[in-house]
Amino acid sequence: MVIILKPNADEGQLQHLIQWLKEQNIDPRPCVGEHQTILGLVGDTSQIDISSLLALDIVEDVKRVSEPFKNANRKFHPTDSVINAGGVPIGGGHFQVIAGPCSVESEEQIVTVARQVKAAGATILRGGAFKPRTSPYAFQGLQAEGIRLLLLAKQETGLPIISEIMDAAHIPLFEEVDILQIGARNMQNFELLKQVGALNKPVLLKRGPAATLQELLMSAEYIMAGGNSQVILCERGIRTFETTTRYTLDLSAVPVLKSLSHLPVVIDPSHGTGSASLVPSMALAATAAGADGLIIEVHNNPAKALCDGPQSLTPARFATLMRKVAAVRAAVCEEGAEPPEKPKEGDVCIRCT
Ligand code: PEP
Ligand code: MN
Repeated sequence: MVIILKPNADEGQLQHLIQWLKEQNIDPRPCVGEHQTILGLVGDTSQIDISSLLALDIVEDVKRVSEPFKNANRKFHPTDSVINAGGVPIGGGHFQVIAGPCSVESEEQIVTVARQVKAAGATILRGGAFKPRTSPYAFQGLQAEGIRLLLLAKQETGLPIISEIMDAAHIPLFEEVDILQIGARNMQNFELLKQVGALNKPVLLKRGPAATLQELLMSAEYIMAGGNSQVILCERGIRTFETTTRYTLDLSAVPVLKSLSHLPVVIDPSHGTGSASLVPSMALAATAAGADGLIIEVHNNPAKALCDGPQSLTPARFATLMRKVAAVRAAVCEEGAEPPEKPKEGDVCIRCT
C-alpha cells in the first residue's frame, strides 16, 4: 500500500500517522520528492481501512499494490485447492457437474430428476428449499420439507446435495446437506458469511449480480477468515445494460479468478442466461475456459416449474449436453493432467445438433 501525502503536509500530523502505522506493525518508508512525499507501507496492510486514511487532512490518495485477500489468494497458496464436496472432489483438475431443479417441488419430482441427472453423469444434486424470490407472493420453496425431500433423493441416488441457505438460523436444518449455497443476493450478507465460516462444510459462493470479482473474493475471504477454507466460487451472470439475456455471463471470470485465487470456479449458465436454449453453448464455453464445474438447472417439466422453468433443461437435453461437455473436456485436457472420462462410442460429437 502506498500513501500519497498532500504537498506541504503538516509535520506533526505526519509523525502522528507514522507512529500509528508502526503500532499496526506496518513499516512506513518515506520517499521524499521535490513536490510530494509518499509513504510505502511494508507489512500486512490487509487490516488497514483505506477510507480512514483518506479522511486525514495530510493524505491526498491511497493505493493498494497487493490484494486485500490473503486466504483466498493464489500468491500464498500456489496450488489449486481441491474441495471434498460430500465425497466428490472439485478443483485441481477434478471437474464436477451439479444438476437438478431450481426448487424442490415434490418427492416424485426431486427423486425422478435426481435419478435422471445421475444417469446422465451429474455428480452432485441441486435443489432449492428456501428460494430468494423478487416477489413475496412468488413460491418461496418447500423450506424444511424441501430439505427432507432432498435428503430422500440423496438416499435414493447416493448423490451429494447442495441447497441455498438464506438465514444462519436455518443452519441446523442443513446439517446433512453436503454443500451450502450462498446465493447471489446474499454474497455480501457478511453475518451469514461469518456464520458459515464457522462451520466445517463446503460452501458454494455465488457472485452478486453487481459485484466485482475482487468483491467476490473478499466475500470468500470472510468465510475463510472464520476457519472454513472449503469455498467454491461461482459465476452466475452480472447485471449489465443487455436485455436479451437475464444476466450477462462473465466467462472471463474463470481465468481471472483462477489466476488470483486457488479456489475452484464453477459456472452457472442457467441463471447466467435465463434461457434453456442458451445454456448448452455457455456450458461448453465455460468447460473450454477451464471451469472446475458447472451448476445447471434441470426440470422434468420446465413448462410447469414453480421457479426458473424457462432456463431449465429437460433431462434429455441435459444428457445430450453432458456428452458434449465430455468431448470438450477431452479436447482441452492439459498435457500431463488426468484425462477426463472419454466420450463413449455413439456419443454425439460437439458439432452435431
Ligand atoms: C438458484 O441457484 O436457484 C439461485 C437463486 O441462484 P442465484 O443466487 O445465482 O440467483
Ligand atoms: Mn434458480
